[in-house]
Amino acid sequence: MNATPLKAEVEIAIVGAGAAGIAAGRRLTEAGADFVVLEARSRIGGRAWTVERDGLPLDLGCGWLHSADHNSWTQIAEATGFTIDRTPAPWTSPNSDLTMDPSEFAEYRAAIAAFYERIGAAKEGRDHPAADLLEPGGRWNALIDAISTYANGAELEFVSVQDVGRYDDDDVNWRVREGYGSLIAGYGSPLPVALECVVSRINHSGAVLKIETSSGVVSARCAIIALPTNVIANGSVQFTPGLVEKAEAAASLPLGLADKVWFALERAEELPAETRLFGRTDRTETGAYHIRPLGRAVIEAYFGGRLARRLEEEGEGASAAFAIEELTAQLGSGFRRRLKPLASTAWAKDVFARGSYSHALPGRAGARAVLAQPVEERLFFAGEACSASSFSTARGAYETGVAAAEAALRVTRRPG
Ligand SMILES: Cc1cc2nc3c(=O)[nH]c(=O)nc-3n(C[C@H](O)[C@H](O)[C@H](O)COP(=O)(O)OP(=O)(O)OC[C@H]3O[C@@H](n4cnc5c(N)ncnc54)[C@H](O)[C@@H]3O)c2cc1C
Repeated sequence: MNATPLKAEVEIAIVGAGAAGIAAGRRLTEAGADFVVLEARSRIGGRAWTVERDGLPLDLGCGWLHSADHNSWTQIAEATGFTIDRTPAPWTSPNSDLTMDPSEFAEYRAAIAAFYERIGAAKEGRDHPAADLLEPGGRWNALIDAISTYANGAELEFVSVQDVGRYDDDDVNWRVREGYGSLIAGYGSPLPVALECVVSRINHSGAVLKIETSSGVVSARCAIIALPTNVIANGSVQFTPGLVEKAEAAASLPLGLADKVWFALERAEELPAETRLFGRTDRTETGAYHIRPLGRAVIEAYFGGRLARRLEEEGEGASAAFAIEELTAQLGSGFRRRLKPLASTAWAKDVFARGSYSHALPGRAGARAVLAQPVEERLFFAGEACSASSFSTARGAYETGVAAAEAALRVTRRPG
């Protein structure tokens, strides 16, 4: 990557080198604009991050190309020599559950399909918590709520029914064998990025923007702000004068929490690849375990919502220990010896993210449009939370990044 010394003056500054900031930067490069990307971390990619363990690329952030058949990252992967795996996701496959009785599994699938049909029918009406649409006393409610903690990072009581209803997903989910994070970071690698450059204030009181960073002040005609909502809402990046409506919109779209633990699995061939099991089906605080993704000798454990928060608070090793307990309860006590933790995440503790992906609070589905609205034709907002229908995904981040870059170009290229 082209780690750039900080330029004091640019036409356009991009704040944040996640999927959105990178997409914006690539669009500005195509247009020949004068710009720099300001990134707090010592790497690019943000919540897209592939690490290598035991010679395997493991995605600690995004892993699935959701709506993969119309996801720009799919075309980018194909054009840049990455390998797309089209094996269907376990949650879309009828026989993917390893431990549930087939008739029970069919019952669960019917219950969750009916729940999402009710969401679809209710999305145009009054906004309220999605939990209101659970069938009273329903056998599968706890598991449907657990699925919400994986999909939204939060339980259904904290999730807007309108927002969930607007999410556009065609159930085509593919993967990048070399890692989604590697794809996104690779796409950003030619960009001029100032790393370890923490932005603290964007002063828009004068004719020129003054962006205060840990490496000095950058003057810019306009800025693309591609930051996670929690970073805007908690004031780590301040605006002068203050932008009350943006802070409120960001707070209405908090990042829910989802964390992963990756295990190496001994004698992997004894378990069928691309299957899944839940730790429990009768409580929300449970993990989802993807067995042998991409046929590899690994298990990916996934936790969301309150459970993920509690495990982060308990400290390092707590999520792996919890996963091992749940897996041995399902697969026998000897299973413990076959598992070696490889990597785990703590996205809430990550100060440059403070969570995993955004969801709208009940009654606040309109906040996405408010957050996405430019200010004074020079502060352009991007990032997954600004997407109307692909929020929470790297796909949505990409689309908002390109849109913000085009809006910035229209202004900077305007005659006079
Ligand atoms: C566990 C997990 C699983 C996921 N699974 C999927 C999936 O399967 N499919 C999918 O599509 N999506 C998934 N996502 C979501 C996806 O990763 C995000 O939606 C997407 O990467 C967000 O991109 P972004 O550019 O909007 O934000 P970010 O990637 O968060 O980028 C923002 C950037 O701003 C930087 N920054 C923060 N503060 C400052 C500051 N003060 N100064 C300068 N820079 C700053 C950050 O370091 C970061 O690089 C997952 C996320 C997680 C955490």
